[in-house]
Amino acid sequence: MVDSKIPILAQKHVSTILLFIFENGTVHKTDIVSVVHSNNSVDKLIEELKNEGFISVKKEFAGRNTYYISLTDKGISVTKNLKQAQAAAEGKQNEEDRETSEGIIHVDGEEINVRLEPEERKNSKYLKILIHSNVLDDHISVEEAIPGRPTRIFNIYIRQNGHGYFRLWCEEDKSFDCWHVKEAWTYPAVQKMMMEYKYKTKVCPYCKTVNDLDADYCKHCGAKLE
Ligand SMILES: [Zn+2]
Ligand SMILES: [Zn+2]
Repeated sequence: MVDSKIPILAQKHVSTILLFIFENGTVHKTDIVSVVHSNNSVDKLIEELKNEGFISVKKEFAGRNTYYISLTDKGISVTKNLKQAQAAAEGKQNEEDRETSEGIIHVDGEEINVRLEPEERKNSKYLKILIHSNVLDDHISVEEAIPGRPTRIFNIYIRQNGHGYFRLWCEEDKSFDCWHVKEAWTYPAVQKMMMEYKYKTKVCPYCKTVNDLDADYCKHCGAKLE
């Protein structure tokens, strides 16, 4: 099933599809169907990935229609992120990519520490992370259902830290770097949400107030915004 309320990168099968194309270059649509084992969602996902500019689809007719699918530059960059995030989440040693083994990911040029303690890594599979993206209130809901402990449901919001950078902030731990936040960062859709948030606001360089993108003056201190 394709749920249009969920960002395309967070949809089921999408990371599998992107990684498959990444490993194989140009692929046939039928190859993707055989990897995903779900014919009806593949059409819809391919359509959405194409509309979002992550893949290009070339149709050729040779007796019957054949669809050749490859990643665009945008698709390649998002898939590299995805690989990094997956490896970081699994704590994998990756010789090609030292930074991954050190539990650091890069989001829009900024370094984010996503290293989990062994105990946290073990529990991370009991976290359910759901992204709610809308114009006014981007946030992430987290369901923590660790066996033997009461289930907790809470939100992660985007907040500015003490240095004025946008970061994820966990309301449960009142923290910018608890393990919920670290785990959430590894989701490409979360990274995308943060980037979109960054580019739809203007931060006052003097008082760090967040203003709308079209503001000319800071609503708090009145400084002229670039
Ligand atoms: Zn937390
Ligand atoms: Zn200001």
